[in-house]
Amino acid sequence: MVYIPCPNKKDYEEYIFPNGLLYLYSSLLNNKYNTDLIMLGKHDFTEFLSEIQKDDIIGISVNSSNKNISFEFAQYIKKSIFNVKIIMGGPFISLLDDEKLKEINFVDNFFKFESEYSILNFLKSQNNNKIIYGERIKELDSIPFPSKNGAIYSNIITSRGCPGNCIYCSSPELWKRKLFFRSPENIIEEIEQLYFEGVDYFSFSDDTFTFDKNRIIKLSNIIREKNLKIIFDIRSRIDAVDNNILEELALTGCVSISFGVESASPKIQNILSKKVDIKKAVDIIKKCRSLYIKTNVFLIIGNPEEKDIDIDMNIDFIKESLSDWITVSGLHYYPQTALYKLYPKNIDWINQKNTVYFDDLYNIKKNELKIHKAHKKALKNLYEKTIDLTDNIPYRSVFWKYAELGMFEKNKKLKLKWLRKAFEIYESPEILFSLGIEENNEEMINKAYYKFCFQINNDIRKSPDFLKNALVFFEYVEDKEYCVFVKSLLEKVI
Ligand code: SF4
Repeated sequence: MVYIPCPNKKDYEEYIFPNGLLYLYSSLLNNKYNTDLIMLGKHDFTEFLSEIQKDDIIGISVNSSNKNISFEFAQYIKKSIFNVKIIMGGPFISLLDDEKLKEINFVDNFFKFESEYSILNFLKSQNNNKIIYGERIKELDSIPFPSKNGAIYSNIITSRGCPGNCIYCSSPELWKRKLFFRSPENIIEEIEQLYFEGVDYFSFSDDTFTFDKNRIIKLSNIIREKNLKIIFDIRSRIDAVDNNILEELALTGCVSISFGVESASPKIQNILSKKVDIKKAVDIIKKCRSLYIKTNVFLIIGNPEEKDIDIDMNIDFIKESLSDWITVSGLHYYPQTALYKLYPKNIDWINQKNTVYFDDLYNIKKNELKIHKAHKKALKNLYEKTIDLTDNIPYRSVFWKYAELGMFEKNKKLKLKWLRKAFEIYESPEILFSLGIEENNEEMINKAYYKFCFQINNDIRKSPDFLKNALVFFEYVEDKEYCVFVKSLLEKVI
């Protein structure tokens, strides 16, 4: 099974195996199919050729950003090797018209929708249909999660689907607005298995992690009862959280939440079918700050009927709410979305190389810059009372606050105090390294070495900031080979 990150996209998440592909890999191994999982990060197809045997089946995972390189790769393999079967799946394939897919002669079979069971049936029966449909899997606990078959990762999905109906999103078409959940017991089994392999930072990538609040409260209680020294981030919706669940999450180790607000203008909210209560959004983000949970807000600009006044509403909103980060993107087209149906454009989904935006790109970039500038200025003015931190804070979410204070504090005594407090919550490689240096503790520096390598090699943390910290560390321990490796990763993501 092959995954090829998009070569033009400077996004570190591109270099992490998609969770769906890990699940397929696990299902195949569970059923005794000899399967390899390969990431072609160097985009050198020739290197891969020697690994392929006659009669092999090559499965390629396709999303909207890696589609061009994935089709190029499939074509190359089909031309170069006789008797190899090429199959493709992934969210992008599920959204394409059957008629268009049937025209692609260098791919033998396309898998649409959830494929854990349909791929097994295909391998048993060698179904001759070019397009194979997966049925909706309601019992998510029945699928073997990837760590059951030896995979190591930090991205966990605990539910599939979303009830939302946002016009720019393909989720309504993919999941038909129905949501199915894994049980807390099943999720904790996966977390524990990974934890005992060394993973202690998790990202829950569900569209709305907190949709069923009781399930998350139960899961949080189990994590705390088991005393797992983990931290994690989640994505959610403003209408799917309240003060109670935020406190639970903070106690358990949730260090950041991403919220899709998209626009603070009621008119644009309406057009996008988003329905976020902006006043509640401000309160929720403030509540997160009071609980030391960092927040990231997604905003979409370049929308139909958008005027300067709508952009200004976004600016007022970010000034008032003061989320730690904002992610601003231009409204763009995906196949099968309501946007594509309501505002049709002539798009060749298979061959189209660039993202198709609704609005003029110059306009989008100009407003994006304006919003980012306002956000940066607003954060500068933010006054935070670090004195509060001397109290005994029960929230494990305070980890990053302690870590930041420990890293930047000049006074040695205070520095050690913050670093130790951060260390009690989560043993990040950066904290291990800093404490090791401050306390002249070789064991800690060795442990930092192990953790930096483990987290990078297993795609657990790969953000540019993390890689920069890792580079400083490897330069310190004079590991030249690893410095070159980390530099090459950094070049890809910045
Ligand atoms: S944008 Fe988010 S909330 Fe809206 S439909 Fe898509 S996944 Fe659901």
